Amino acid sequence: MTENPQDWEVETRLVRGGMARTPYGEISEALFLTQSFAYDSAGAADRRFSGEDPGFIYQRFGNPTTQIFEDRLALLEGAEVCRATASGMAAVQAALMGLLRAGDHLVAGRALFGSCRWIVSELLPRFGVETTYVDATDLDAWKAAVRPNTKAFLVESPANPLLEVTAIGAVAEIAHAAGAKLVVDNVFATPIFQKPLALGADVVVYSATKHIDGQGRVLGGAILGGAELMTEAYKDLLRHTGPAMSPFNSWVLLKGLETLELRVRRQTENAGRIADLIAAHSKVNRTIYCGRPDHPQAAIIANQMTGGGNVIAFDLGSREAAWRFLDALQIVDISNNLGDAKSMATHPSTTTHRSMPEEQRQEIGLTQGWVRMSVGLEGPGDLGRDVNRALDAA
Ligand SMILES: *Cc1c(COP(=O)(O)O)cnc(C)c1O
Repeated sequence: MTENPQDWEVETRLVRGGMARTPYGEISEALFLTQSFAYDSAGAADRRFSGEDPGFIYQRFGNPTTQIFEDRLALLEGAEVCRATASGMAAVQAALMGLLRAGDHLVAGRALFGSCRWIVSELLPRFGVETTYVDATDLDAWKAAVRPNTKAFLVESPANPLLEVTAIGAVAEIAHAAGAKLVVDNVFATPIFQKPLALGADVVVYSATKHIDGQGRVLGGAILGGAELMTEAYKDLLRHTGPAMSPFNSWVLLKGLETLELRVRRQTENAGRIADLIAAHSKVNRTIYCGRPDHPQAAIIANQMTGGGNVIAFDLGSREAAWRFLDALQIVDISNNLGDAKSMATHPSTTTHRSMPEEQRQEIGLTQGWVRMSVGLEGPGDLGRDVNRALDAA
């Protein structure tokens, strides 16, 4: 009986998925730093360009190392096709541009990563695409926002920075009833804990910069979906606009995928402990963590996520207290990245969400006292001591 990778467990998919060896039989995936490819004859070039013969043509369209990364991530996600991009933002931008044209309408959850919000609020209108923002936890709001020209829905779940969770299956049904496609930014959940395509989404996007690298090295992104949509909406767009992932980054990210499950599980164990410690501290007004039963959407989380992830948000009441907390940390870094082996904490109102107008921050509940922490792989005792000491100082 021949092994079928589709039957493999997650861990096996991450280590062996997409493996394509050269005749040398290398164990570690080969890094093909090559822009273009040579053909045996003029006829072979003709057939390669026509699509009659398989094979690579140019790095902007595809590369053997990038292909292994794409096939491995597709296997993990349960997607027919994955296309890698140079960054998470390149993935979000292309995911929307491929589905929308002038005169179309987008509905988007209002709690979005800052740059995603810029694309939706500033860039899309230049090309005649209007957007209605909704409270992503309110299904009636999604329904009410639909117009005859609505072509896409965009949601981040859990959302940055306050970890609001959206019922992906229910929103997918509303999108499909309206003839629109649902795009889910799955960065916070990671492909380990949430599978939006299986829940009904049409397109999943990642910033591979976060947990997939997880070691602070390179940028990357990915768009995943069914073969038909990926071809129709994205094949030509990606080929001709050029947001391709560098093969070097593909290679680094392939190595990241091998340990993704291990890292994310350990980070999540650490985050569970730290979230409980934060929630129990007298200086903290409110703690939000997807792995705690007091998360506002705990019932939805139980339905669609298999782990709480590594990000915690907590409210210390004022900007001064939040800054005192950050400044008292000795192990955890003050940094706006997330998903890294190194724990980091940030003050969203003055960093990641500073360009969001105050009234919009109020709308999503982001007052000045909130801190967002991405829990890493340090020893839980050291992390707990550092966080407790900083909370005392807040
Ligand atoms: C970081 C992030 C992005 C952007 O990814 P880059 O790789 O930094 O371009 C998009 N969405 C979410 C939710 C993110 O956290």
